Amino acid sequence: MKLFLHRKDLRVDDLAAFNYLLSSSEPSLHMLILDPFLLRHSRHEAHSGKQFLQYVRRLMNLYKQYGKTIYVVYGEPEVVLEQVLHNAPIDEVIVHRDFTPYAKTRDRKLREVARARGVSFTEFVDHTLADLADFQISSGKSGPYKVYTPFYKKLNTYLQTFYRPSSPLHLGDLSTVDLAQLEGSQRLLELIQSWVPPFSLEDYMPAENPIESLDDFLTDHLPFYAARRDYYAYDGTSSLSAAINAGAISIRKVYEAVMEQEHSAAWVRQLVWRDFYLYQSIYDENFFGYEKTFDFTNLSDRHFEAWRKAETGVPIIDAAMTELNETGRMPNRLRMITAMFLTKNLLCPFTLGEQYFRYKLSDYDNTLNRGGWLWCASLGFDASPYFRIMNPVTQSITYDPSGQYLRRWLPQMAGLSDKQIHQPQAHAIVDLKQSRAAAIEVYKHILKSKPTVELGGSEDG
Ligand SMILES: Cc1cc2nc3c(=O)[nH]c(=O)nc-3n(C[C@H](O)[C@H](O)[C@H](O)COP(=O)(O)OP(=O)(O)OC[C@H]3O[C@@H](n4cnc5c(N)ncnc54)[C@H](O)[C@@H]3O)c2cc1C
Repeated sequence: MKLFLHRKDLRVDDLAAFNYLLSSSEPSLHMLILDPFLLRHSRHEAHSGKQFLQYVRRLMNLYKQYGKTIYVVYGEPEVVLEQVLHNAPIDEVIVHRDFTPYAKTRDRKLREVARARGVSFTEFVDHTLADLADFQISSGKSGPYKVYTPFYKKLNTYLQTFYRPSSPLHLGDLSTVDLAQLEGSQRLLELIQSWVPPFSLEDYMPAENPIESLDDFLTDHLPFYAARRDYYAYDGTSSLSAAINAGAISIRKVYEAVMEQEHSAAWVRQLVWRDFYLYQSIYDENFFGYEKTFDFTNLSDRHFEAWRKAETGVPIIDAAMTELNETGRMPNRLRMITAMFLTKNLLCPFTLGEQYFRYKLSDYDNTLNRGGWLWCASLGFDASPYFRIMNPVTQSITYDPSGQYLRRWLPQMAGLSDKQIHQPQAHAIVDLKQSRAAAIEVYKHILKSKPTVELGGSEDG
């Protein structure tokens, strides 16, 4: 009997592990372990945790619809695995891989638990559009791609030849184990019933089917995406990121659906940014450690609270942070503007903003969030050049000329004219010009503190 552990793959179709399970023609026990470490600090109450749990509820419903069984438990993964292997006749554990430092450590422990019991541990990479290891080999490059455009071009060429299409197989084709029907599983069933989370899963509404959002986006917005994606008052992007990150929709199905359409290029270019950050998390050994390799002593948390609470006095920043705090959403351009404002104008370490987004973003993903923050803080591959700092007022005038977005999230300012509404208020916590000049000096020093860093890069975020 096999054991399949769901993680960031909360769907029932087009999964590498399912193809493998089917080829083995053995029954499989399916589980999802809610990890106390990942849910620490009451994350189940934060936008990011809630969104994930809504996808968990959806997954549970899908299993029910197919008449299959999934066990959702709460506990330290290696402790749960040890007990499951002790109490059930399992010969192989199957998972999809993730490349964050925590995931790598967790999976090393799981592998050790399995090995100690003589059980195989099989991992598949399933969350990227391209097979990045194969892509890297086929590129013939000795080192990784460090600049986005060549990466994007090469990846497009690679996909034309080596694309692995989505699989028609789904949960209904598998034979899942119902422990209640399996002799000798009483002890395991009792344990499962004791591994309950400190909150009720029933409190989370099952998330909607992301295929519907994809269809709506392709029909109504894709043709205008390139022209409108940055005009954040207008809801013209797909809002698929949370579903993609939770694995609630297959990245291959998303790609195949969009490639059937005209005007797909601009959107696919954004989708490939996702692979570029996931690629960096594998091929840039510093990706999760830049804060340890640069000298950040000239940065401080002095203005962090004002930024977090939407009290900076710079309307575009306060409006975007209000939307984030209230809904868990923030359009991409506003993420770039608020992150750059925090790291540059407010000279705050990027890690504080990164941590804050971790709780607040509904679509939080450790790798993509870090990638976005590194870009804004001029660190990492192809980051924003340290001397090119976005002016929040100019950005606001350009992308929301009539102040529609500002009026939506800062109703107290609704009476101001279209011209006045973008300007910093009297109580603004920094002067934009002075803080920009100071940031350029400080970041010049920070980047010099690591002599090997390459200054410069593209502005594409
Ligand atoms: C500071 C900062 C933090 C970020 N944190 C996250 C995060 O935690 N999770 C997350 O999913 N994205 C993050 N992003 C990237 C981007 O903002 C979101 O992916 C995008 O806003 C999601 O909206 P959408 O699904 O409507 O995207 P669309 O515009 O419809 O794009 C389609 C898909 O392409 C991918 N994508 C689009 N833009 C980017 C990008 N710049 N980088 C990587 N992938 C991209 C996403 O999977 C997205 O769903 C961050 C960006 C910045 C600047």
